[in-house]
Amino acid sequence: MEGARAEPIAPEQRGFAKALVKWQREHGRHDLPWQTHLHPYPVWLSEVMLQQTQVSTVRSYFSKFMARFPSVQDLAQAHEDEVMALWSGLGYYSRGRRLHACAKAIVDQFSGEFPKDVERLKSLPGIGPSTAAAIASICFEQKAAIMDGNVSRVLARYLGYEGDLSLSQHQKKLHQLAQQLLPNKAQDMPTYTQGIMDLGATVCCPKKVRCESCPVQKTCHAYANDQVDTLPLKSKKIKRTQKSIFWFIASNALGHVLGGKRAQTGIWAGMYAFPEYDSEEALRAAVPRGVKIRALNVLRHELTHQSLSIHGFASLYDERLEPRAVKRRASVTKPASDAWPGMEGFQWMSMNDWAQVGRPKPVGDFLNQIDQDFQPL
Ligand code: SF4
Repeated sequence: MEGARAEPIAPEQRGFAKALVKWQREHGRHDLPWQTHLHPYPVWLSEVMLQQTQVSTVRSYFSKFMARFPSVQDLAQAHEDEVMALWSGLGYYSRGRRLHACAKAIVDQFSGEFPKDVERLKSLPGIGPSTAAAIASICFEQKAAIMDGNVSRVLARYLGYEGDLSLSQHQKKLHQLAQQLLPNKAQDMPTYTQGIMDLGATVCCPKKVRCESCPVQKTCHAYANDQVDTLPLKSKKIKRTQKSIFWFIASNALGHVLGGKRAQTGIWAGMYAFPEYDSEEALRAAVPRGVKIRALNVLRHELTHQSLSIHGFASLYDERLEPRAVKRRASVTKPASDAWPGMEGFQWMSMNDWAQVGRPKPVGDFLNQIDQDFQPL
C-alpha cells in the first residue's frame, strides 16, 4: 500500500513516551547483564550481538566477552582468531569481525572513548543507524530514535503505518515519525529506549501479541482498528536457495583433525573449517586411494540467503593422509597434498587448537561427533 496514514502524529498519541517510560520503570526488563552499567562498551557489545540473535543466546556470549575483554582497549588488542573463537556459534560472523575492527577504530581514532553523537558513531565499522541511536540515547541521553525490527513493528502498529517496511523509503518515513514520539526530557531517553525495546520483545511481539498488557493500548491505532495481525506490512520475503556442500573430516592417530582457514570472501570468511567440495564424487576423488571414509549425519544450516545441507565424511587416523604429520605429533603441520580447494592451507589441529579459532557452528557439531568416536591407538 503506497499511503501511510499516520502523519503527523495524532494529538492523543503524544503521550506515548510518557506512558512507555512509566511502564518500563514498573514492568520493563531490568535484569539483562548489559543493563548493570550504562557504559557505551557493554551497551555497544550487546547491541551488536542482539542483531539477529535472541536475548537468551546472547546472555552467555556477552558474559564470556566481558570476562575476557573487560574494556574496548582489551578487545582492540586481541588477535582476530581469539575474538572469532569466542564468537563461534553466535552466527553472522561478519559481525564478529566488524566488532573487532570497531574496537580498534575507537582506540585509534577516538583515544578509546566512544563518540557521543549518532553521526560519529555511525562512521565506525558495524555501527548502523539503530545501534548508533541506542548507544547515544542510552549512554548519553541523546534524542535519537532506534529503529530495529522490534521497534518498527511496535510503531507501525501503534501509528497505523501502512507503508511497506521492506522498502527503505517507508523505513525512513517511520523513523521520522519515531523522532516525533521521543520524550521531552533528555534524561528520560535511556528508559524510553529500553522501554520500546522491552515492549517489542515482551508485549507487542510478532505473534501472540499481548495488547491486554500494553501501556499504550488506549491510543494504539492498530488495536482500535483491528489491524494488529496485519501490521506491519512487509511484501518482500527473503528467498533462500538450497545448497549441498561436502566436508572431508580427517583425523590422525593423535585425534587431531585436518582444518584450515577459509578464504576471506564468501560464507564463513576467514573462519576455520574442513576441506570442502561441491559433490561427494569430487570429495572421493580428492581423498588418497585406499583411505576409508564414512558418512556422518547430514547437518542442516540456515544462512540469510541459503539453506545448506552439509554432508560430512570422516576418515579416522589413516596414515596415508599425512604420515609425517602423525609421527611428529605436530598440530600445525601442513599436509603435502594441494588437493584441498578453497582453503589457504591445512594443518592437523588438536581439539584445543580448534577451541582457539573462529569456527562455524556445524564445524563444532561435526567435531563433537567424531570426538565421541575417537579411540587413541
Ligand atoms: S496495543 Fe497491541 S498492537 Fe498496539 S502497541 Fe500495544 S501491543 Fe502493540
